[in-house]
Amino acid sequence: MSDSQSGSFSDKKHYDVIIIGSGPAGYTAGIYTSRANLGTLIISGTLPGGQLMTTSEVENYPGFPNGIFGPELMMNMRQQAERFGAVVVDDEVLKVDFKKRPFTITTHAETYTAEATLICTGASPRKLGIPAEQQFSGRGVSYCATCDGPFFKGENIVVVGGGDTAMEEATFLTKFGKSVRVVHRRGSLRASKILQQKALENPKIEFIWNNVVADIKGNNKISTVLVKDINTGKERTIETGGLFVAIGHEPNTAIFKGQLELDDKGYIVLKQHTKTSVEGVFAAGDVHDHRYRQAVTAAGFGCMAAIDVEKWFSERKHS
Ligand code: NAP
Repeated sequence: MSDSQSGSFSDKKHYDVIIIGSGPAGYTAGIYTSRANLGTLIISGTLPGGQLMTTSEVENYPGFPNGIFGPELMMNMRQQAERFGAVVVDDEVLKVDFKKRPFTITTHAETYTAEATLICTGASPRKLGIPAEQQFSGRGVSYCATCDGPFFKGENIVVVGGGDTAMEEATFLTKFGKSVRVVHRRGSLRASKILQQKALENPKIEFIWNNVVADIKGNNKISTVLVKDINTGKERTIETGGLFVAIGHEPNTAIFKGQLELDDKGYIVLKQHTKTSVEGVFAAGDVHDHRYRQAVTAAGFGCMAAIDVEKWFSERKHS
């Protein structure tokens, strides 16, 4: 029988496995661990459901031929995990102690302990940091061309960034946009030569060098961006129906510093399969994967990590 509950805390304090994070990786892992009869707590974090809660329609998640809204998809995943007994609490983890087992996980409301922990805290797109950005997020400002590109058919599109993601996204967006302009803060690109070349040779892409986006304007939806030359200070307005911010991601790993091995960009290092540098701690999704970053790949990683957790428990039982 399910002992599922939702709320900001759980009466039960000790779990077989605590999953930190509630994007596609976290919920999928929860479906698998709870179905495997492991007592599972999912601590959802500040944005229950993760990045997909801020997107509109998801057209590339298999199984939904007509697309599905991001929040609906995440609510379905949550209910599916709860159906098998996973407890989901809407709270934020402030501190973890992986130095001894059971591990201790402290949230705003409670302190929990767990034999195993699965980290699915994801990554957040780096923001431009200008005031209008938040206002137009989902109203023409996007952080994922693969997710949102097809909504911008026939538009003049602006992409910000000079790395691999920006080049890939600009090239991809030429399939949909009337024009694509790349605004980059320097006079040379950080992207790998092959992706640079592809973008530079694409006749639909224009580069605006040494410029930053200083403001975004529009009514209900974005209509123009103001770009500013960082050398001359000269400003110019560009008409656009879509602004894609592709200036990198930040993994959500601040609370794991000093507890787990992280790489130089802060992503969790996996040692074997989904195992981290600490025995009994596993990771899945964008928190270690900066390459694919798709809902379906995160869900797949969540499934893999849950299977590794299950195996880890059964090996301990038989040793
Ligand atoms: P990135 O390599 O960190 O590049 C970020 C870009 O955004 C840089 O050009 C940077 O400018 C610019 N930028 C950063 N902060 C900015 C700000 N506040 N305002 C304006 N511009 C800003 O990030 P990424 O392109 O997302 O790539 C992340 C990692 O994934 C990389 O290791 C990349 O190689 C990899 N990746 C690989 C592929 C592939 O192989 N197919 C595809 C995508 C990503 P500066 O250059 O001036 O610093």
